[in-house]
Amino acid sequence: MGKRGPKPVDMGLLNVWEFEWYKAFHVLRDGTPLPGSHAVTAPPPHISKVQIRSWIQRLKEMSEEEWLKTNRRACATISEKEVSEIDGPIRDVDLEFARWEKADEIAELERYLNPRKIPAQNERRMLWANLVRARTAPALKKVCDEWASLPDVRAWGLTCYPAHILANMGEFLRMKRDVRFPKSESVTFDESRLEYLARGMAGVLVGVSPMTAIERLRNIKHTQGGPLWTKEPGGLKYCKCWRCSLASSRRVYKWGAEGWWNGMSLFMELAGKRLHRKGEGR
Ligand SMILES: [Zn+2]
Repeated sequence: MGKRGPKPVDMGLLNVWEFEWYKAFHVLRDGTPLPGSHAVTAPPPHISKVQIRSWIQRLKEMSEEEWLKTNRRACATISEKEVSEIDGPIRDVDLEFARWEKADEIAELERYLNPRKIPAQNERRMLWANLVRARTAPALKKVCDEWASLPDVRAWGLTCYPAHILANMGEFLRMKRDVRFPKSESVTFDESRLEYLARGMAGVLVGVSPMTAIERLRNIKHTQGGPLWTKEPGGLKYCKCWRCSLASSRRVYKWGAEGWWNGMSLFMELAGKRLHRKGEGR
């Protein structure tokens, strides 16, 4: 990128692109856009395969908005809180969250009915490792070509991400050479590396230097006075960055496989009631 003059950084846009890269890198490495819990074991005996098939059908018919509201109801039910936040504002990032989570749930349930690994799991781990390691243009080109040819990456329309890296090879290789790039081999550091690269590439797309983007996003203030602090006309105040939004649109289920199935069960029960009561079938 060209000049590095003191121009204002659009933190909103930077935040949006950070989230897009975060998901794209996760799909490359793990086969799923968000790190989540996985229903790796069989459901409790009271949940039948017939029921699971009907859940999949119901989820596929559900709009993102309905998913989001049902999820909020389920969270409120579990935490025995007031349900007033159910009708709270629905932001674009919430709908985005709902879209991915719904896809993830459908995939989880289908995987249980038809156990099958994420396409080329070992291969994609290797691709990710090679992307992190690549030091030369030919090495980077090889990884990006293989990344773009993964069937699910193509199906999800994510091939633009390796293309962006190839179009900005110099910036990409330079940010990996920076002393701040996490070098340790541990799993925790791998997540830090992913975030570092997501932030840097967000900067490239917004037109600021990767290191500026990495520092600005790392140090963003999430409380009053922060760049994405928002006040609704109704008085509600919140940080609208994707991290805070994800934290607020938390999933019902968190801990372990049993919790996952119980959370799904509650979610589907509420989804069924809501549809029946309001008679809506959008
Ligand atoms: Zn925030």
